[in-house]
Amino acid sequence: MKVLITREIPRAGVDLLRKHPSLELDIRKGPPLSEAELIKAVDGKDAIVSVLPDQINEKVLNAGKPTLRLVANYAVGFDNIDIKTAASLGIYVSNTPGNLTESVAEHALALMISSARNIVQADKYVRAGSYKYWSPMLFLGPVLTKKTLGIIGFGRIGQYLAKIAKGGFDMRILYHDIQRFDKGEQEIGAMYTSLDDLLENSDFISIHVNLMPSTKHLIGERELKKMKPTAYLINTSRGQVIDEAALYTALKDGWIEGAGIDVYENEPKIYSGLTELDNVTLTPHIGSATREARVEMSRMVAENVVEVLINGRPPKNLIKP
Ligand code: NAD
Repeated sequence: MKVLITREIPRAGVDLLRKHPSLELDIRKGPPLSEAELIKAVDGKDAIVSVLPDQINEKVLNAGKPTLRLVANYAVGFDNIDIKTAASLGIYVSNTPGNLTESVAEHALALMISSARNIVQADKYVRAGSYKYWSPMLFLGPVLTKKTLGIIGFGRIGQYLAKIAKGGFDMRILYHDIQRFDKGEQEIGAMYTSLDDLLENSDFISIHVNLMPSTKHLIGERELKKMKPTAYLINTSRGQVIDEAALYTALKDGWIEGAGIDVYENEPKIYSGLTELDNVTLTPHIGSATREARVEMSRMVAENVVEVLINGRPPKNLIKP
């Protein structure tokens, strides 16, 4: 059985797959495969291990017919895969959830602190030789302790961030989701509220929803104008959840104080004006970039392949359409 791995992944998963001599691996390296390259590469494969830049669309899925049985995405998100078409063709789709929860939540917290305390600007200032004497007014920012953190999307990552913000900084936690999480509310002491109430009352807002048609541009001009002018917006979910043009105006015109952004609307392109602003911290989609998470994701993705191709069962981390 043939497995296409579209990009080099940590050895843990590859070693696991190599334990099964019936699996023949086609491992690609270098930049993302184009649609035409994917269509060619998927021909005759039984499974694909894909990464986020791979657009596994209808054409690619059809090109995998009739052998393709699994698209094992090396990510929690799966908005790069046409889930409906996969289901209609009887192809399983899996992801690698859970194991990178802590890494992404820690990155969201890092963006909160970096944005609030001007870490990037201060670093540039020191390197430029501008630090000549101490000043009481230099790079002032807000304290996090006891402030209100609003979390939009209270799933795995949102709840873990709430836990560390509550435990570490005694922050008041508001959350908004399309579901209620009674256990999380009790354990963390989080309060459920409407999106508008959260926007109006939070000092920091961190977004952790999945990207779906219903969450595209969940945050646009109307929502940004509802935020406090002293508030910070953090996004480690997916770029398209925020209307980037509106975010640019909000930061430029002072509707909000600052932002920390890891994901972009047209990744890897970044809305041109954003890179000119000092009050936004930008990172290149590295929310899950810890050694621990990447090795664990590699193991999980391989286990999903083994479950389908060797054990003849649905993948452990099956995405239901
Ligand atoms: P999850 O499925 O556990 O949580 C998502 C939550 O969003 C769910 O509780 C869901 O009910 C909620 N939600 C959906 N629609 C909503 C809406 N309209 N309003 C409010 N809430 C809504 O997912 P997770 O593991 O916490 O991951 C969240 C997202 O983080 C992923 O989908 C992925 O896109 C992103 N992510 C980013 C990185 C990175 O490197 N930056 C890494 C991993 C995951």
